[in-house]
Amino acid sequence: MIRFDAVSKKYPGGTTAVDELSLELAEGGITVLVGPSGCGKTTTLRMINRMVEPTSGTVSLRGRDIREVHAPELRRGIGYVIQHAGLFPHRTVLDNIATVPLLLGWSRRKARARAAELLELVGLPAESGKRYPNQLSGGQQQRVGVARALGADPPVLLMDEPFSAVDPIVRGELQTELVRLQKELHKTIVFVTHDIEEAVRLGDTIAVFRTGGVLAQFDSPERLLAEPADDFVAGFVGQDRGIRRLSFVKGSEVPLRDGPLLPAETPVSVARAAGEPWLLVLDGERRPLGWAETGALPAGGTLADVELKPFGPGFSLLGDSARAALDAALLSPARLAVALDTDGTAVGVAGAQELTGGAR
Ligand code: ADP
Repeated sequence: MIRFDAVSKKYPGGTTAVDELSLELAEGGITVLVGPSGCGKTTTLRMINRMVEPTSGTVSLRGRDIREVHAPELRRGIGYVIQHAGLFPHRTVLDNIATVPLLLGWSRRKARARAAELLELVGLPAESGKRYPNQLSGGQQQRVGVARALGADPPVLLMDEPFSAVDPIVRGELQTELVRLQKELHKTIVFVTHDIEEAVRLGDTIAVFRTGGVLAQFDSPERLLAEPADDFVAGFVGQDRGIRRLSFVKGSEVPLRDGPLLPAETPVSVARAAGEPWLLVLDGERRPLGWAETGALPAGGTLADVELKPFGPGFSLLGDSARAALDAALLSPARLAVALDTDGTAVGVAGAQELTGGAR
């Protein structure tokens, strides 16, 4: 849909901002451009709406070289959202959102009706339309920025670090909101961020750039984390990528063992022989009752007589990811996650260590 063919941008001072970039961005998906500061992400983004012209190479949109399209016409089909929302301070929120429809010659009434619709779409209450931007929180201003970019219902949305200036909690909310919006709107979104977490959270596809404007890897988030192309990408996606990758592994794919699973009627002497530091005690229907610590078992009797520790949240084999399994393991006294079938029966356990080290 958006295609870069051997695109380079050299600035007059001699900086190569983008170096021989070839890339094809899918229609209707979120492509994230990520990398450390100064690696050419913004320059790449701005070459899509011709705010920056390439020194060489071709950018095309739906098969058409964008140099052949008159810039104002091109931009009508491309929404643009920037870091501080870039709202007009002396216009109300509603008028800010109505900017593009008005520029397109819509009547005031129609433009305002569209703005009110967009306000609702981005999750803001109708009465905030009468306010001025500085009367809104940073997160709300960003929502207005998104609404304004959607004014003329452009098929393409460019977003340059749109959520970087707000605190992490609001940022998380805005990310969730964008994912929700995108499910409804199916825009072709190009999203710039320096934050790999954000990239993995939002991107259907991720382009990792390195300094010098070189594309280091272009892949799905899953593959990026599993198979970084080189040391630079590996370093950038972080040491803890093994943990983040778990979000993409299904609960049903977690390697399980059943060593510590024992029915409540098991005699303590037999339970000790299992050689496990912790034992998961099950009721008659194999539902977990709780953990018994082997070292604290009484001299005789069965596991039914033992005081148990709560077995923790467990994880669902069907609905959860391996990431939920890791959380469950870390919250359990035994450091073991209990895998649960849909009927609540225990199927096996997985250890935190195997999950972070061995999961594929
Ligand atoms: P990023 O978005 O990854 O932080 P940019 O695309 O903004 O990177 O910048 C890439 C490189 O190009 C940087 O070295 C930057 O200093 C340089 N650069 C960006 N814009 C200009 C400009 N207008 N004139 C000269 N150099 C620029």
